[in-house]
Amino acid sequence: MNDDVYGIKKWGNDILEILENGNIGLKNPFNPDNSPADLIKIIKSLNERGISCPVLLRVTDYLAFRIKQINNSFFRAIKEIRYKGEYKGVFPVKVNQQAQVIDRIVEFGKEFDFGLEVGSKPELLIALAHDLSANSTIICNGIKDREFIHLAILSIKIGFKTILVLESPRELDLIIKISKELNVRPLLGIRVKLTNKVSGNWSQSSGDRSAFGLSVEQVMEVINKLKIYDYLDCLILQHSHLGSQIPDIIEIRKATQEACRFFSEMSKLGALLTYLDLGGGLGVDYTGEQKSAFNSINYSLDEYCTNIVETVKYELDQSKIAHPTIITESGRACIASSSMLIFNILETTNFDSKKTQIINEEDHPLLKNMIQIPDYLGLERAQECLNDLNYYRDEIRALFRSGQIDLPNMAKTEETYLYVINKIKTVLSSSTEITEELQDSIDNMADIYHGNFSLFQSLPDVWAIDQIHPIAPIQKHHEYPDRRVILNDITCDSDGIINKFVLKDGVSNTLPLHSIKDNEDYFLGVFYIGAYQETLGDLHNLFGDTNVVTIKLKENGNYQLLHEQEGDTISEVLSYVEYEPKDIINRFKRIVEDAVRSRELSLTERKQLIQSFKESISGYTYFEK
Ligand SMILES: *Cc1c(COP(=O)(O)O)cnc(C)c1O
Repeated sequence: MNDDVYGIKKWGNDILEILENGNIGLKNPFNPDNSPADLIKIIKSLNERGISCPVLLRVTDYLAFRIKQINNSFFRAIKEIRYKGEYKGVFPVKVNQQAQVIDRIVEFGKEFDFGLEVGSKPELLIALAHDLSANSTIICNGIKDREFIHLAILSIKIGFKTILVLESPRELDLIIKISKELNVRPLLGIRVKLTNKVSGNWSQSSGDRSAFGLSVEQVMEVINKLKIYDYLDCLILQHSHLGSQIPDIIEIRKATQEACRFFSEMSKLGALLTYLDLGGGLGVDYTGEQKSAFNSINYSLDEYCTNIVETVKYELDQSKIAHPTIITESGRACIASSSMLIFNILETTNFDSKKTQIINEEDHPLLKNMIQIPDYLGLERAQECLNDLNYYRDEIRALFRSGQIDLPNMAKTEETYLYVINKIKTVLSSSTEITEELQDSIDNMADIYHGNFSLFQSLPDVWAIDQIHPIAPIQKHHEYPDRRVILNDITCDSDGIINKFVLKDGVSNTLPLHSIKDNEDYFLGVFYIGAYQETLGDLHNLFGDTNVVTIKLKENGNYQLLHEQEGDTISEVLSYVEYEPKDIINRFKRIVEDAVRSRELSLTERKQLIQSFKESISGYTYFEK
């Protein structure tokens, strides 16, 4: 079986490959001919080191590759289109603030003068603690107070190109005041609200009602003020952020065009603009469908870069204005592919059964009817069979409620039901053309596979905004996945489910997976989760951070473990909700001691209890073997 059930070739071709042994391998994007690293081997060897699932696996090669790809694609477009300016990207820190990640972005980005974009004081501090290349910029967005502005302006003195992007006219007064106090000229940008509204899930980042940026009249106000105070020469950057995961390339072109109009007009008014910052928005094709939809995009990276460079050149040539340095703030597209979550399946709940039922003379007539359904079951009559089956069961359930059927017979009915469902599922699995209603009924009877992860901690966007991340088993790709499942996490929240999956032919409500034997290890990978998920995750049910491992791919399918961050212990998550772990142990000890005094408990039992409590409190919050 080498059919690409999960569409890995469509969405994961740069990074994943199905190996001979049926496992998923991590391809080295810099050397696609190198043998891929076997993910199962990686997980096993992490286990041997004491690092168990769930594990967030970061592959640094994928980050380095994307940074290089984005920069090279802009360089290529600039050369092809004979654009006279440069490209200098920045990474928006809010997309992934983890030290391990930012350190590597700065390291890999140095040769491209890659900078950082910050939206708050903590993020500014992160940026200033990095050895950025001299020609890179720090772009400061977001609402700024005195402290923020003070530090940003001072940092210019030690060689940072820290640009304060005005989000409101009010900020300008403060900036001028502080700059005079410090006797340092600021580097300024203006964030312009574009009137072009983009589609997709983040459309509110653009248009008149966007919370960020200056409206046209405010832009005028700011420029006039800059003139009056003799600060117009400090205005070097125009910023426009369209939103995230923009699905349609036409919208990017239109917005770029409008941004250029502002650039030209502001230049005509005397601003010495040299940077045009087009913000984020470069999307990730999570489903591999290459279409304009929330979880997909209808353009390639090369197309994105070409469209931007071409539009900027055309528009500015029209107004006879020198080509600026183009900045983009691609977060998602830069980092998403470099992280994946690997978790094990703990348990499965099946909603059908292969176990044949023996129906006797004395069984209820409705049950006898039920067992006869397979006799007339065929593809054309599947819906009819399902209707009959549900009818007979509902009738018997009603009899149970009114006391006319006893528990053993009710159980027999339910078992027969599961047996017949299995027959119906088998018939339907041979067809791709079944009605929507039938498909819904079958989807509603998919298995539930319980995974060792928390949706709220590791995949918050799946819960909050219906983000779809590709999910695939990391083993058994040479075996037919005989079950259809939805996934349930380890929290006690009925929202902790995943029921949208990427398959070869598009998005599906169920995921094909393999039957799992008792005690068999079975792992799933959730891919493209490097952007936004880590800090947005929360402690629902007190499941904490997972173990995190950073690796680098080596020759011959080997890898090097660069960094390991142990997940939260129970003691740590308890302290987040203001319990003092020592105090908790003492409280428990007192309760146990009371039991000893009332002679219910032996001293050995006391010791056992306290030891067990202490072991738990220092352990992983997730299921451990
Ligand atoms: C969030 C954000 C970004 C990142 O957007 P992506 O679509 O992830 O690339 C860039 N710039 C600003 C101002 C943002 O707020």
